[in-house]
Amino acid sequence: MRMIGHFIGGRHVPGTSGRTGDVFLPMTGEVQAKVALASRAELRAAVENAAAAQPAWAAQNPQKRARVLMKFLELAHRDEAAIADLLAREHGKTIADARGDLQRGLEVVEFATGVPHLMKGDFTEGAGPGIDMYSMRQPLGVVAGITPFNFPAMIPLWKCAPAIACGNAFILKPSERDPGVPIKLAELFIEAGLPPGILNVVNGDKEAVDAILEDPDIHAVGFVGSSPIAQYIYERAAATGKRAQCFGGAKNHMIVMPDADIPKAADALIGAGYGSAGERCMAISVAVPVGEATAQALIEELVPRVEALKVGTSTDPGADYGPLVTRAHLDKVRGYVDLGVAEGAKLLVDGRGFRMQGYENGFYLGGCLFDEVTPDMRIYREEIFGPVLSVVRAGTYEEALALPSKHEYGNGVAIYTRDGDTARDFVSRVNVGMVGVNVPLPVPLAYHTFGGWKRSGFGDLNQHGPDSIRFYTKTKTVTSRWPSGIRTGAEFAMPTMR
Ligand code: NAD
Repeated sequence: MRMIGHFIGGRHVPGTSGRTGDVFLPMTGEVQAKVALASRAELRAAVENAAAAQPAWAAQNPQKRARVLMKFLELAHRDEAAIADLLAREHGKTIADARGDLQRGLEVVEFATGVPHLMKGDFTEGAGPGIDMYSMRQPLGVVAGITPFNFPAMIPLWKCAPAIACGNAFILKPSERDPGVPIKLAELFIEAGLPPGILNVVNGDKEAVDAILEDPDIHAVGFVGSSPIAQYIYERAAATGKRAQCFGGAKNHMIVMPDADIPKAADALIGAGYGSAGERCMAISVAVPVGEATAQALIEELVPRVEALKVGTSTDPGADYGPLVTRAHLDKVRGYVDLGVAEGAKLLVDGRGFRMQGYENGFYLGGCLFDEVTPDMRIYREEIFGPVLSVVRAGTYEEALALPSKHEYGNGVAIYTRDGDTARDFVSRVNVGMVGVNVPLPVPLAYHTFGGWKRSGFGDLNQHGPDSIRFYTKTKTVTSRWPSGIRTGAEFAMPTMR
């Protein structure tokens, strides 16, 4: 059995805790590897290593740090096919989708190569008599990232690239369900010239996470995963004095207005609802047609498309989507489909009977489509995270606008319409963090920021873009004058600029 250990101090380190987790090959259902689950002592050893390496890395000029990232980009493109293959085999998504996972991460590395400019401070000449005032950004020291299974390349890179570009050392605790790619990325960073100890991958579960939260030398924690864990990490990080940004689950709606191009809206719903088997935090899981005629027309377009979805192995280039990540997750999603039927929603397309010939033990689920879902149902309120789309019919635009706005999650939302006024009103009033206008997956690009609202995001700074530089640095503000500017005599009143 292949063993996946940790990557600490620039080298592979076997686990010593005696605890391991299974890494599946979702397309066959087999266990393909065992991943080490770190103990507190192993996590601490990684932090000590990182803390020792960090000052010298921070002292390098930012252009030199950026050049390591540039070299990393070159190496990641060189190895793109192998990384995508490994990713697809551990996660279950198709290889084409795995390439997108990696590419969206690399775009944040590209953004982070701008760190010499991004970290520049502010300067005010003559803020007072003979006084200059300036502010500068300094790294925090050792910081950590805890990431989910569904984007094993993209999200680790969203976290670690800006952090290390700013001069921090990084402890990555990736998902124990698909740990192979994060280790591969760490290897490439070393090959690109990153000093050992600046990017460490410590595999593990709750024990490693709790060790991160309690470690006095970790100064910031970036988390992405489900909302209950996001909230737990946010609370624990605050209690131990760490900076935290914690992103959680989602229930993303797409509003379809009567004037929308219905076939195009249906195409968008199919890609955004079923791509990656619905295991995306920006997946559309709720379609909201406005008015009876729109609902009828949309359902007519959706049903044949869902029935025609091609579920395949992760390595099948013709597959629309592959298996789910684990049997436990498959059982959970199937359970939600059973629940929806029991709650009285109308299951128009039932994917539960899908069997993949030759891969009967793989974690496959055919596309499922519910109609007549209502806001009181659990299948509407809770995140399913599978290839299941729910149609909630709205009578009016105001009713449709209220659905995502009142939902406890607030990650992404989209509206399909030809009417600029409606779109503009929607963008302004909807209570959700990321909005698409005739764009079903409004995932902001690397130089903007990514973050949901309400229970989709705990903390105040978003991921990547300018916020990531703020998150991974602290501001030092200096007020200085030289002897010619110093007045004689003590001053007792509060100095002001009046
Ligand atoms: P998860 O919450 O199960 O796990 C995320 C991380 O937390 C993993 O590293 C895991 O090891 C750790 N963890 C799990 N249970 C823990 C516990 N009890 N205590 C401490 N740590 C624990 O999430 P997942 O299933 O890997 O990922 C899917 C979830 O992530 C979905 O809810 C999805 O919406 C969300 N997600 C959100 C975003 C976003 O940006 N908002 C992006 C991607 C995924």
